[in-house]
Amino acid sequence: MLPVIALIGRPNVGKSTLFNQLTRSRDALVADFPGLTRDRQYGNGRVGDSPYLVVDTGGLVGGEEGLDSLMADQVWQAVDEADAVIFLLDARDGLNLSDEQIAERLRRSGKRAWLALNKSDGQDTDAIVADAYALGLGDPVPIAATQGHGVTSLINRVLADF
Ligand code: GDP
Ligand code: MG
Repeated sequence: MLPVIALIGRPNVGKSTLFNQLTRSRDALVADFPGLTRDRQYGNGRVGDSPYLVVDTGGLVGGEEGLDSLMADQVWQAVDEADAVIFLLDARDGLNLSDEQIAERLRRSGKRAWLALNKSDGQDTDAIVADAYALGLGDPVPIAATQGHGVTSLINRVLADF
């Protein structure tokens, strides 16, 4: 079975950058403009002998209304269709209400989920690791998607379940 792994999180947390690392491609659009990647994007990846399919998604803000809620529906549909989810957090920004709302819905979905604490490069992550743990989705894995730090360790943890 080819595990399908969805990447979700707020705009600008580094989902597309992580997608590019996991697929070693430049297919996903990486930009400084929050919310630019609105459509779902699929890519193949492999670690050792284990292939997987990774899904990049548009940003979630939590508690979306109007047009935003239609885009959020797309993301939650990607979650539905996935075997596992990587929920990215931003170690530079810290956690906010959006992260809590996303976490709550993710917990309710019952989907297997891992927390990735991205942008951990050059950050003292102790306080935010504790905040992230309080989301009730397990231990966050610190990563730096731009440099690829922690990415293999993260994907190995996810794939260990399959
Ligand atoms: P998305 O909106 O969640 O898909 O986020 P992007 O992948 O487009 O990244 C948003 C911004 O964060 C870009 O400027 C990235 O270069 C930057 N970024 C992504 N990952 C990291 C990281 O590990 N460390 C740092 N410092 N910046 C990052
Ligand atoms: Mg993106």
